[in-house]
Amino acid sequence: MALTKVNGIVLSGSNMGESDILSSVYTLEEGKEQFVFKGLRKSKRRPRNATEPSSVLRINYYGKENSKFRIASEFDLLENFSNFRNDKVKIFSLCFISEILNRTIPLGIPDERLYRFIYSAFKTLNTTESPLVFTVFFLVHYINAQGLMPDTGECSLCHCATPVSLSVKGSTIQTLCTECNEGESLSEEKAFSVLRLFLMKKFQDLNTGKVEKDTLHELFCAMTDFLEGYFSFQIKSSTFLLNFFREKK
Ligand SMILES: [Zn+2]
Repeated sequence: MALTKVNGIVLSGSNMGESDILSSVYTLEEGKEQFVFKGLRKSKRRPRNATEPSSVLRINYYGKENSKFRIASEFDLLENFSNFRNDKVKIFSLCFISEILNRTIPLGIPDERLYRFIYSAFKTLNTTESPLVFTVFFLVHYINAQGLMPDTGECSLCHCATPVSLSVKGSTIQTLCTECNEGESLSEEKAFSVLRLFLMKKFQDLNTGKVEKDTLHELFCAMTDFLEGYFSFQIKSSTFLLNFFREKK
């Protein structure tokens, strides 16, 4: 069996048997793969946080082409973006972002742009002072990067250039003008303008303090509803985050 070396970002880690850890890792070279880290839970020599979401690893593994799991023989922890011990918002945001990535990325399709996107998402979350704003920003850009965001410069129905609001129904997002939105269930117009702002700007150029929490909450719900409808799954970690949107500052 040949030894293969890959670089990857951990998306999930769960206990397997008595002492092993099974991790889903998005690798630069092979896309998302499942790795087994043998004996890691009992190892005193190896850092346990290596298999927590956001860790960047270099992994050596021996594996057959068609096997479901790759058995990691050696690994190095290159970087870890969860240096926020007691920040609950960041902890739940990290759970949320990694759950979405893990549940929506299929196995085995390498994509360097997606790798860089994931890397910078975890890196930014680690340092930002506005984790809630970043989490919604991430949602918007992830959906956009998947090619699932409609053109926000026109109404999805009549194609006029003055859309004012957002409609999420099941597996589609539509942008609607005043005339077309009658009788639809809509997100507030404010949520639509924040969506457009997020799409236009880099995160570091945003004035995050200016984004109202209620509007952010609205957009968060619209985007998670869409992802759940489109990919047909329930985002388990969103309930924890929802409480923080409802909290007063
Ligand atoms: Zn219209």
